[in-house]
Amino acid sequence: MKKQKLFETIEQINSRVTEIRHDLHAHPELSGHEEHTKYLVKGILEASGYKITESNAHYGLIADLVTDEAARTVAIRADMDALPIEEQTGKPYSSREAGVMHACGHDSHTAIALGTAIALAEFKTSLPGNVRFIFQPSEESKEGGSIEMIREGALAGVDGIFGLHAYPYLHTGEIGYKYGVMMASADIFTIEIFGRSAHGARPHEGVDAILVTAMIINSLNHIVSRRIDPLHPAVISLGTIEGGKASNIICDHVILRGTVRTINEEVRNAIPEMMEASIKGICTSMDATYNFDYEFGQPELINDNKMVDIVVKEAKKIIGEEHCIDLESPVMGGEDFSEYLKIVPGAFFRLGTCNEAKETCVSQHNSRFDVDDDALAVGMKIMGAAALEFLEQKKP
Ligand SMILES: [Zn+2]
Ligand SMILES: [Zn+2]
Repeated sequence: MKKQKLFETIEQINSRVTEIRHDLHAHPELSGHEEHTKYLVKGILEASGYKITESNAHYGLIADLVTDEAARTVAIRADMDALPIEEQTGKPYSSREAGVMHACGHDSHTAIALGTAIALAEFKTSLPGNVRFIFQPSEESKEGGSIEMIREGALAGVDGIFGLHAYPYLHTGEIGYKYGVMMASADIFTIEIFGRSAHGARPHEGVDAILVTAMIINSLNHIVSRRIDPLHPAVISLGTIEGGKASNIICDHVILRGTVRTINEEVRNAIPEMMEASIKGICTSMDATYNFDYEFGQPELINDNKMVDIVVKEAKKIIGEEHCIDLESPVMGGEDFSEYLKIVPGAFFRLGTCNEAKETCVSQHNSRFDVDDDALAVGMKIMGAAALEFLEQKKP
């Protein structure tokens, strides 16, 4: 009954939500700069009767609809930031900001969460529990904005959380779900190698940091292929290498930067030690020294199976069983929604946004990426229904 009313409301507000998405898309803001987005979000939520909690440190905000303190609280999270990419979609609502673009679909996440918030607010006091919306900044940043939101209390009193991501590899009207581990942890590292410069013709008088680096790169590639159980996927990728000043000088300093992805905490914890052992051994044997800086980033994204059940059960009713795709294997990409899932049970799912006729099947972080507007209502309905379903299930 409630869900039927919810879907009707969503149909009614759908064109407004589409306009909101186009406004957000035309005014993208980089991680940590989501000011216009924040005030747009805040205005709409306040008008719908939500209590807003703002931060002094960033543009994230929390919006609450409290009906019964003793009942369950469900959270829905949206990320708001864009990317440093020059848009080339040619759409009428294309980015008005040079070099900034919603190329990951966070404009659609924000619009869907707003629409869901407006629709759920229609129930006001008859909701079976409390609803919290978490609009977070900086998902695309190295640190991830979710951890800051959590530190400031975004999950206090929350019993369960849902999140989604636009997904151009599934068609509009489809979703992808995954039980258990869905995405990888994402760590970064910097390795500095210090040698000793000398004339290129007299290498024996120096310590060649480039040659040391070559051996290190080789040995790092042995870690995943020879030291990690092949049944535990892991990636060690070097993204940058800098070093050397001239063709006839033995290089004395090289900097390497890279990322490590795993989907298993034990493997994740073992890798930095293995890396350092290789670096140290090679440097010692070659008379070089090193700095090794390893930063643990977002953890693996692990869905709660009962929460995935709720999403799948509701989605099947809305889009049909054949359009709910079990993604089966995790991907090695990272997503800072994982921080919320470390603390409360929740589910993250993929919302299909590919529509060939509208050219919305391009991969994320690409200058031609866009979301099919018809996916917005699908996202709102599944989010809203999952939230209602979670609230209707009694507190254990
Ligand atoms: Zn992204
Ligand atoms: Zn994203």
